Amino acid sequence: MGELGEWLRTAREGRSLSLEQAAEQTRIPLSYLKALEEEDFSPFSSSLHVRGFLRTYAGSLGLDPEAAMELYAGVTTSLRRKRAASRGKASTPAAGAPPRSPAEAEEQGGRSSTLVPDLMLALAVLLLLALAGLAVYHFRLRPQVAAVPTEGPAPTPSPTPLPVFEGTDYTIDVQLDYAGHKLAVQERIDYTNVTSQTLSDLMLNVHPNHIRNAFKLTRLRVEVDGKQETAEVSQVGVTCRVQLPRELKPSERVTLYLDFQLSLPQISPSAEFSDAGFGYSKRSVSLGNWYPVVAPYRKDKGWYGLTYFPVGDPFVTEVADYRVTITATEGVVLAGTGKETRSGSVWSYEVDQARSFAFAASDRWQVTSRQVGDVTVQAYTFPGNEPAGEAVLQTAAQSLELFGELYGPYPYAEYRVAETEFAGGMEYTGLTFLGAAFYDQYDGTSRSGLIPLTAHEAAHQWFYGLVGSDQVTEPWLDEALAEYSGYLYYERMLPDDTLWWWSYAVDQWAPTGKIDYLIYEFRDNRGYSDAVYRRGAEFVRDLRQVMSDPAFFGFLKEYQRRHAYRLATSREFFSLAREFTTADLVPLQEEYFRQRVLP
Ligand SMILES: [Zn+2]
Repeated sequence: MGELGEWLRTAREGRSLSLEQAAEQTRIPLSYLKALEEEDFSPFSSSLHVRGFLRTYAGSLGLDPEAAMELYAGVTTSLRRKRAASRGKASTPAAGAPPRSPAEAEEQGGRSSTLVPDLMLALAVLLLLALAGLAVYHFRLRPQVAAVPTEGPAPTPSPTPLPVFEGTDYTIDVQLDYAGHKLAVQERIDYTNVTSQTLSDLMLNVHPNHIRNAFKLTRLRVEVDGKQETAEVSQVGVTCRVQLPRELKPSERVTLYLDFQLSLPQISPSAEFSDAGFGYSKRSVSLGNWYPVVAPYRKDKGWYGLTYFPVGDPFVTEVADYRVTITATEGVVLAGTGKETRSGSVWSYEVDQARSFAFAASDRWQVTSRQVGDVTVQAYTFPGNEPAGEAVLQTAAQSLELFGELYGPYPYAEYRVAETEFAGGMEYTGLTFLGAAFYDQYDGTSRSGLIPLTAHEAAHQWFYGLVGSDQVTEPWLDEALAEYSGYLYYERMLPDDTLWWWSYAVDQWAPTGKIDYLIYEFRDNRGYSDAVYRRGAEFVRDLRQVMSDPAFFGFLKEYQRRHAYRLATSREFFSLAREFTTADLVPLQEEYFRQRVLP
């Protein structure tokens, strides 16, 4: 233990506090406090993460948080010196080298958030693109990446699960008027300031607000220090800024009480992406990204307010705990996120550390289920589509099993797949909506679009759900991996159909160009799909070939373990890949990326 750890421990013991009591008091998980006192920063996801908790912990012990920051800076500087001395000239870790902690990597490699452009930059890029016309899309070049596989030993990631970052609690009570396509909602948000900043306001992203008259806020009260008062609110686009009655210091808590009504828009059977997950159709209602959700908070940039966009998924959320009760009408079946209990027409859901809570309802679904280990998989299917529903159930169950083996265990006890009326698939934690169009076209064989779609959406439970990413500025990061996972499903389960998969999912579209676009840069779904799914799948295929299988799969498993319940970045993706291979990844970056991610 060094000076910093000693300083913290002495102050805690001076207050006669056990680590357990300190954890209770600060609401910082015990393992993190212990790590801070031991000056072991490996469990933390970033140095921001370390500093946030360190500041809070020091403050709670009556110590000066600034002095804590100085001591921490001293520790990381001496760590860097020691590492530089022991590393000598070897600056690239060997294949299979034990991964460094991202907190250290960040200290060494600078800030990881600088790659993420803000909205202004996005708009500037849009303008540039308008000037450049279609040049980018007409840049025709087939992938010709020289694949030189490296024979790396299979890396051995540490089996210790990382502690979970403490998130926001949502308690939501819904009265669903199924026939009227309306909802009356009471939402309680218990927010703990997990940033290292003092906050004067809270930002909510209210996605339904992009549709005229869909969202009506009737009351918003804020409670701090046991006092409730009406909050001052300013809404711009889908963002809603809530002024706090007083400043909120790190680790302090605030509770918001919102009353609102939703009036659902109609979903077109040909809708895709953000227009497809929220609304009603003849046979069902879909509630995806439907409630005010606390915006992610970014170091140096503050709240991450989002902007609606019709292409891609303009949603970025942190994980949170949800308790949701939905009162529906008799005869309506619900499918939601998490553990379900039902009493008559009152449906309750509970889930911890979920990236989103979604649900759908229908007055005609048939429900089938299957057990995969500890996970119950349920399929909700319209009458007449039973064979397709059975194929979905089987594909979903096998996908969870396969991806659990490849990427790490599925963290929830339920997974539901609901047929709703649109033309694609939409992922939420523990729940997927699949478009009826795919069920209708199901021909009873594995060479039918429903099968790869089901596998793709199941893979999102890992690439989106467990490991989140910025779906606005780096949509390739979850989509390329989910899409290639669809191929991996075929490779393992349907090896005779792998060529069909490539032809169906990629080659028939002859996609070209780069994959690292912001969603705002796409003119339509075709351009988006070509880049992030199809070229994305080709990129992951080439990455696998360059790394060789043991390193590639070891890397993906460690990517899941290390970034679980966080928002990962493409820089973190590549920097971790480099810990698992000595192969040169630069040609791959040049082939598929406009911007070099790593030097
Ligand atoms: Zn997807």
